[in-house]
Amino acid sequence: MLKINNLQARVENGNPILKGIDLEVKPGEVHAIMGPNGSGKSTLCQVLGGRDGYEVTGGSVDYLGQDLFELEPEERAREGLLLGFQYPVEIPGVKNIYLLKEAYNAQRKHRGEPEADTFQFLKLVREKLQTMQMDESFLHRAVNVGFSGGEKKRNEILQMLVLEPKLALLDETDSGLDIDALKVVSDGVNKLRSPDRAIVLVTHYQRLLSHIEPDFVHVLSGGRIIKSGDKTLAQELERNGYQGIIEEAA
Ligand code: ADP
Ligand code: MG
Ligand code: MG
Repeated sequence: MLKINNLQARVENGNPILKGIDLEVKPGEVHAIMGPNGSGKSTLCQVLGGRDGYEVTGGSVDYLGQDLFELEPEERAREGLLLGFQYPVEIPGVKNIYLLKEAYNAQRKHRGEPEADTFQFLKLVREKLQTMQMDESFLHRAVNVGFSGGEKKRNEILQMLVLEPKLALLDETDSGLDIDALKVVSDGVNKLRSPDRAIVLVTHYQRLLSHIEPDFVHVLSGGRIIKSGDKTLAQELERNGYQGIIEEAA
């Protein structure tokens, strides 16, 4: 599904941030990317999502048999790539329900399907709202405007449940969540697990990974994956921190 080969990237005209990332994600898999602050986790997500301001300086990324970098960000999204932001943006003047509907219909159009019936669509969204334990009033507010940190994260997962991406990249979806919200967000992500989808979770903490069990855990440090393992690696990190692994890699 996703094959990252020696990916190198920097902020435009800035210092290198990603210094040769290799990662392969197959359908059905859940990968966790952990690592200290400033190691390049968000940069990796942004580069894969196609955000402006980053420059790919080497390597390649294959997504579903295509060169990912040949696709515009909106094309990546239509091809089923979803990026859940560490800091979800507020979009004043755009109602949440309209954003969801536009995105949903853009995907349908891309597949050659007719626009969703308004009534059917609302039914679908209500069901997803329930999973996320969100009130219907959130649909009629401007996207993320005035939402608390936890509500923004729930809203990211709501979008994900509606859009059913093939590959979800979730950047610190757990940060800023209290224990109950963490459970709700994790349940939402787990609902999306299926043999034909993959999820890449970026997180600092093991606590998310006790709700969403990853198949693989990777440690990103200084723009490189310095260690990969199974879920026990996350437990080891929780006990011992990153320093030991960083020194071992050096
Ligand atoms: P993480 O998500 O692992 O905490 P980031 O990918 O956000 O790390 O950042 C990696 C490094 O790149 C940091 O040193 C950060 O300051 C730098 N960086 C990221 N984005 C920018 C930017 N737009 N301008 C300058 N430096 C940046
Ligand atoms: Mg980050
Ligand atoms: Mg551009």
